[in-house]
Amino acid sequence: MVSSSSLERPPSVDKFLSSAAASHLVERYGRKSVTQALRAMLDSLRKTYQADKTSLPSMEGLIEELEQRLTEQAVFSLRRILNLSGTVLHTNLGRALLPREVLNTVVDVASSATNLEYDLISGKRGDRDTHIESLICDLTGAEAATVVNNNAAAVLLVLNTLAYGKEVPVSRGELVEIGGSFRIPEIMSRSGCILVEVGATNRTHLKDYRLAITNNTTLLMKVHTSNYEIRGYTNEVPPSEVATLAHDNNLYFINDLGSGSLIDLSRYGLPDEPTISSAIDEGADVVTFSGDKLLGGPQVGIIVGKKELIKEIKANPMKRALRVDKMTIAALFEILKLYEDPDRLAQHLPTLRYLTRTLDELDDLANELIMPLTKTLENFAEVSITSVESQIGSGSLPLERLQSKAICIITRSDSTLRTLAAAFRALPLPVIGRIHDGTLLFDLRTMEDTAEFIDQLSHLDMTVSPP
Ligand SMILES: *Cc1c(COP(=O)(O)O)cnc(C)c1O
Repeated sequence: MVSSSSLERPPSVDKFLSSAAASHLVERYGRKSVTQALRAMLDSLRKTYQADKTSLPSMEGLIEELEQRLTEQAVFSLRRILNLSGTVLHTNLGRALLPREVLNTVVDVASSATNLEYDLISGKRGDRDTHIESLICDLTGAEAATVVNNNAAAVLLVLNTLAYGKEVPVSRGELVEIGGSFRIPEIMSRSGCILVEVGATNRTHLKDYRLAITNNTTLLMKVHTSNYEIRGYTNEVPPSEVATLAHDNNLYFINDLGSGSLIDLSRYGLPDEPTISSAIDEGADVVTFSGDKLLGGPQVGIIVGKKELIKEIKANPMKRALRVDKMTIAALFEILKLYEDPDRLAQHLPTLRYLTRTLDELDDLANELIMPLTKTLENFAEVSITSVESQIGSGSLPLERLQSKAICIITRSDSTLRTLAAAFRALPLPVIGRIHDGTLLFDLRTMEDTAEFIDQLSHLDMTVSPP
């Protein structure tokens, strides 16, 4: 019998565990999890009890709370959310989305033995890059390619292979920081290279590179200024000129494009991002770029370039530590295949589909949502449709904005706005908007399924407290 009257004092762990009611929890979640959750629950209970001796729940209430804690622990904390933040490639929200249609291949290779590193013809050891290398080379015009965990790893591996213990001249205008932990100076020293800063923040000339070349230089490097732009009195040396200078001095030229694009985005009416093939045409011996930025694929770093350099890079023992797994290779293959048909790419690749949405489409989405939202929020807020600017994100085209449409929510006070934003984050499919100028905005550029959004509005709970 579980008592429904209030307890007189917090029970001990042992007493609680030996109760009949606890035993079904132990059976379901295991003794270890139950004991841990119980300790945490009783700890906080004792604290409230010390502060207020009258506040103890019933045994029944305790069991219920314990069960709730255990179910919460059992759900995977990494989950689907709805990104309406206005940033299409949001690093904290997982960047590019893979289309479901590519996932069959991923599931197949994940759940079966594969020829990942096995040559079916010779019956001997193979190379995991062979499954994607020729596709990457076809799409970029590169001689050879290899793939690692992300672009930060790509830069690290390239520098460590080609310039370990050597000086690497980089323009002061290109000492990029990407999201805190990736900074060119730090990556340079962790790669075992000596950064030689050349030029000034706003202006770097070819002679600055020339004067920086010593007997201890093996390569010149350019880094795409992905997330900022230097404006005003500026000068940047074009990659082709740095390449010529490098080659005249028997040095390599490497170009970290960051995002880059496999195709000319202007064909979709989007702002220009340098393409990988143009970077190669401009004389780069090695180019590095991300798989989950504009490319729209899985998280990888792609290294393309001269055959003998890629061979050297692959022979670096660090490659083993940075390599990608078979599921990633499968996803990358399927995404790259989509690029063979650029006319239908925007239809299949979520990133490109979002980036190319028209204002009419965005208006239609907004109109589907305005009524249900107005009704749900009638006691808290005013809801309207507004024009906003989305950004591409993840350091792609940092200054370019895409005209977009958003649901704009205005409340009486800032605290109500924060409560509302928290309530949307607490929905079964958490909705992430952005707060701007005293309004909560849901940018519709990345809205996928309006029915799913509307269906869960009945769960909106304005009693959740904001952090
Ligand atoms: C994004 C970026 C990186 C890091 O790439 P990740 O794929 O996030 O590791 C490195 N260099 C540049 C120029 C970038 O834009």
